[in-house]
Amino acid sequence: MKYVIVSGGVLSGLGKGVTASSLGVLLKSAGLCVTAIKIDPYLNSDAGTMSPFEHGEVFVLDDGGEADLDLGNYERFLDVTLGRDNNLTTGKIYSKVIESERRGDYLGKTVQVVPHITDSIQDWIQEVAHRPEEGTNNTPDVCVVELGGTVGDIESAPFIEALRQFQFRVGPENICFVHVSLIPVMSPVGEQKTKPTQHSVRELRGLGITPNVIICRSERQLSEDARQKIALFCHVKPNAVLSASDVSNIYRVPLLLDQQGALVLLSQKFGFKIPAERPLLDEWMEMATNVDGLTEEVCIAMVGKYTGLSDSYLSVIKALNHASIASSRKLVIEWIEASNLENNVAKSDPQIHADSWERLKNADGILVPGGFGDRGIEGKILAAEYARTSSTPYLGICLGLQIAIIEFCRNVLNWDNANSTEFNDNTPHPVVIYMPEISKTHLGGTMRLGSRGTIIKDRKSMASKLYDGAEIVYERHRHRYEVNPDVIEKIELAGMNFVGKDETGQRMEIIELSNHPFFFATQYHPEFKTRPTRPSPPFYGLLMAASKQL
Ligand code: GLN
Repeated sequence: MKYVIVSGGVLSGLGKGVTASSLGVLLKSAGLCVTAIKIDPYLNSDAGTMSPFEHGEVFVLDDGGEADLDLGNYERFLDVTLGRDNNLTTGKIYSKVIESERRGDYLGKTVQVVPHITDSIQDWIQEVAHRPEEGTNNTPDVCVVELGGTVGDIESAPFIEALRQFQFRVGPENICFVHVSLIPVMSPVGEQKTKPTQHSVRELRGLGITPNVIICRSERQLSEDARQKIALFCHVKPNAVLSASDVSNIYRVPLLLDQQGALVLLSQKFGFKIPAERPLLDEWMEMATNVDGLTEEVCIAMVGKYTGLSDSYLSVIKALNHASIASSRKLVIEWIEASNLENNVAKSDPQIHADSWERLKNADGILVPGGFGDRGIEGKILAAEYARTSSTPYLGICLGLQIAIIEFCRNVLNWDNANSTEFNDNTPHPVVIYMPEISKTHLGGTMRLGSRGTIIKDRKSMASKLYDGAEIVYERHRHRYEVNPDVIEKIELAGMNFVGKDETGQRMEIIELSNHPFFFATQYHPEFKTRPTRPSPPFYGLLMAASKQL
C-alpha cells in the first residue's frame, strides 16, 4: 500500500480536496486502484450536526455516514463508493480510545495522546486503506490521505504526529508527503510572494515531516523565480514544486498537474511504471474541452437559504453541472433567497421582493434543494406554486418534495394551513409528519440515512424514463419527516402521482405531476451519486426539460 499524504498551509479553502482528488485521478490513470481518507481534526464525531452554512454541505454516504464534503470530491473524481470510516475525526478517534480504556484494554497504563491516540490514528488509516473497493475484492494500491485544516492548528497536532510516525511504520518508499500552499500576489507590483509558503513548510518540517512535493495555489501560473525560491527555502527539488493556478473548469486540475510531471514524481517515489496510453486522462481532457465549449445557456433558479457560502449546496451544484454537460447547455444558477419571495417582504423591502420574483420568473427551471428549519419555507411554497401553475420545470429534493406536497394540499385540495409538523406542530392538516422510528432526544446520526431502495412500478412515469426503466433504484437519504401516509390517496386522486415508494410501499420517495412538462421531486438526495459522465437522472431531467429537449 502506498500513501499520499496531503497537508495544507497558510489558509483553509485552498482547494486542497480538489488537488488531492486530482492526484488520485492521475494515479488511477496509471491503472492503480485508489482510495481516499479525509481527516477532519474537529471534535465532532461526524459532520451530521454541523451547519452547512458554516462548514459547507454535509455529504451523505451509502452506509449512512454523514461526512465532510471532500468525500464527495473523492467519490466523483475517483468514481468510487466510500464509507463513514473514510472520514476520520478527532471525535471518532477519542471515542474509540476511551471505549478501549473503559473495556480495560490498556490496563495499568496511563492513556495518552502519544502513543495511544497516535497509534490509534495510524491503525485506522492502515485498516481503512486496505478495505477492498466497494463491490469487488480489489485491495487498493494507493490511499490518498487528506489532512483537513492548516498545519500548525492545535487540533491537527496529534494527526501530524501520527503521520510523522507513520513514515517509519510503512517505510519511506511507501509514503509521499504533498503540501498544498498559497502564493499570494501583492498588487500593484504583481510579485508572487513565497514567504507564507516558506513559513508553513518550516512549521511542517519542525513537526518532523518534510514534504516531497509542494503544490502552489495561485491565480496565475507560478513564476520560475518563485519556483526556484520555494525549492531553495523549502528543501525540495525545483521540479517538485508544482503550480496549481486558476483554471477555466475543475476537470483541468488533474491535466494541469499531469503536464508538470506530478505523476512522474509519484512514480519515481513509489516505483511504478506509467503506461504509454492513459485513456482515463483522455476522458478528462474531453470533459474539460466540452465544458469550455458550452455556449447556449440554461438558467436554473435555486430557491434556498443563503449566507454567501455556495459550498452549502456543493453536490447539488455538481449534479447540475454534470447534467448541463450531458444536455449540452451552459449552466447559469440564479440564487434566490426563499424568504425574499414572501408577501411580507413586498411591504418591508419591495425592491428585493420584486427583483427576486423577476429572477425566479426569468429562469428556465426551478430547484428547491434540501433543508432544515422554518426560515424561507413560505417563500419556497410560493416558488413551487409558481412552477406548478406556470408549467415551469420543477425539481424538489427532500425538503423540496415536502414543500411541493404542502403547496399542492393548500392550493389544489384547498386544505387551509396544510403544513409539515416540522414547521407547525398544530397545523389542521399535517401532510408531512415526523417518521415514527426517528429519535426525539438525539440529533446526531439518527435521521433516516444512507442508501435505500426506491421501487418504481409505473413504467410510463417520468421516473421510469429517467432511470432507464429500472424497477428499483438506490439513492441516499437524510431526513426525519415524510409524507403522511393517511393523506396519500386523496393527493393522488387530485393528480399528484407517487411513482416511487420504498420496499414496504408505505414511504413515499418520488412524486410527479400529471399534465405538467416536468414537476418532479424526490424524498432522497440524488445529488450525492452524480458523476461527471453519469449525471444524476432527476437533474438530467430538470436540465433537459428546462432547455426544452425532454
Ligand atoms: N427537514 C426535512 C426532514 O427532516 C428535510 C430534510 C432534507 O431536506 N434533507 O425531513
